[in-house]
Amino acid sequence: MTDIKCKVLVIGAGPGGYVCAIRAGQLGLDTVIVDEVRPGGTCLNIGCIPSKAMIHAADEFYKMTHAGAGPLGISATAPTIDLEQTVAWKDGIVDRLTGGVGGLLRKAGVKMISGRARFVDGKTVTVAGDEGEIQIRADYIVIATGSAPVELPFLPFGGAVVSSTEALSLTEVPESLAVVGGGYIGLELGTVFAKLGSKVTVVEAEDRILPLYDKALTRPVHKRLEELGVTVMTGTKAQSHEGGALQTDAGEIAAERVLVTVGRRPRTQGIGIDELSLTMNGPFIRIDKVCQTSMRGIYAIGDVTGEPMLAHRAMAQGEMVAEYLAGQAVEWDKRAIPAVCFTDPEIVTCGVLPGEVEGTKSAEFPFVANGRAMTTERDEGFIRVVWREADNAVLGLQGVGVGISELSSAFSLAIEMGACLEDITATIHAHPTQSEGLQEACLKALGHALHI
Ligand code: FAD
Ligand code: NAD
Repeated sequence: MTDIKCKVLVIGAGPGGYVCAIRAGQLGLDTVIVDEVRPGGTCLNIGCIPSKAMIHAADEFYKMTHAGAGPLGISATAPTIDLEQTVAWKDGIVDRLTGGVGGLLRKAGVKMISGRARFVDGKTVTVAGDEGEIQIRADYIVIATGSAPVELPFLPFGGAVVSSTEALSLTEVPESLAVVGGGYIGLELGTVFAKLGSKVTVVEAEDRILPLYDKALTRPVHKRLEELGVTVMTGTKAQSHEGGALQTDAGEIAAERVLVTVGRRPRTQGIGIDELSLTMNGPFIRIDKVCQTSMRGIYAIGDVTGEPMLAHRAMAQGEMVAEYLAGQAVEWDKRAIPAVCFTDPEIVTCGVLPGEVEGTKSAEFPFVANGRAMTTERDEGFIRVVWREADNAVLGLQGVGVGISELSSAFSLAIEMGACLEDITATIHAHPTQSEGLQEACLKALGHALHI
């Protein structure tokens, strides 16, 4: 067995782990990162990036197949899609990005080890890989092992029943697809397959899709799903898949394939975490303000630490932990974590929702009164501001609209910098852009909207 010593050992090279390792390397800490697959984690390999690539491809295909139905005078003759080629294009993007992460780790002087890590004790980990067993002793260990899809016992993965991982690599468009779980993944990928021509049915246990968001935000998405021919069954429970159909408590649905997207579970099992007896927060590892676990010297970041399970949260935690280990006076003091659901239209949320905090009010500006939105033929949705009445501080920003994911940084910047309504209204917003809706929502909050 080979023995290695280092200052920082990061387990898992997803967005949390690789960012932590790069930053630690930049700060001169002797750092080792271990992953059992190539760098990039869920996000780059089977999550954020591949799903966004497939969303783009499906959008393009749908636009072409529906060109004749629009008012623009454009027509196209019988477009087709070779899904195998689309998937190969998506895989090429993933290859470039994961290769790039490997390069960044090398540039930062981080040692990469391939294999499965397992704790021996609070300072020692063994890695079983292609090159035999390696024992690594580290002053600090960062657990960034991420998450995996939740499996339903009555719909085990395999054959026609798939998780997001397999759905992102299907080379044929299924005639019919039942999506169990109308959350982030179910709706993003359900929309992809609906646009590619599948007959999609979403089966959601709660009384509405994306139950984390309020109805006003999800209404335009629900409406668009119906326009795309998607059947949305809320308050419905899936039971089994037999004979090309999904049985539910509300009847049978044709389903050549079933995509199960009912959440993700932290990857804490089989790596010796149980033996360390770390304090847990439900199924997740409990952490403090510097992401330290209940055992000194062991840190945890990303999905393994709980909601929101988002790549940018994992990255921000990873960066902070590296800086903390290098002796900087940092702690987790973020005011808000933006979240984007890449549905059609997109939903962006950041900070406080209406009614969540006492002494706040909200105002919204609809895209139907926004020139830029009209020029894209899609003027559904709105931007909403939630502010504190006492001092006009902006505590929350949300929106739903086509392409508004790019507004998420304006939302989080405003909240992180403690902007008040007047800061946003006094900022010139370029015309014609959908971002003017942000300024107008704040003007409306102050009682003098200009364009509504
Ligand atoms: P992960 O990315 O899960 O990485 C963990 C790594 O640890 C993996 O590479 C794994 O191989 C490795 N590992 C685990 N155990 C061991 C072990 N014992 N030894 C060695 N290595 C180990 N988030 C967004 O913010 N935006 C999106 O648009 C988005 N889209 C998504 C779409 C899909 C389909 C999915 C599934 C997820 C999406 N997410 C999105 C969520 C995002 O992917 C995760 O929040 C993010 O990847 C979490 O990062 P992480 O570093 O905590 O863990
Ligand atoms: P999710 O939590 O977003 O949605 C799961 C949905 O399944 C919920 O609406 C829930 O009510 C429903 N559900 C649970 N059990 C059910 C059952 N037995 N039958 C029917 N419905 C059931 O989970 P997800 O879509 O699997 O995504 C997992 C996580 O990945 C998300 O929470 C998010 O953090 C992350 N993610 C983020 C993005 C993004 O940022 N754009 C995209 C994809 C995934």
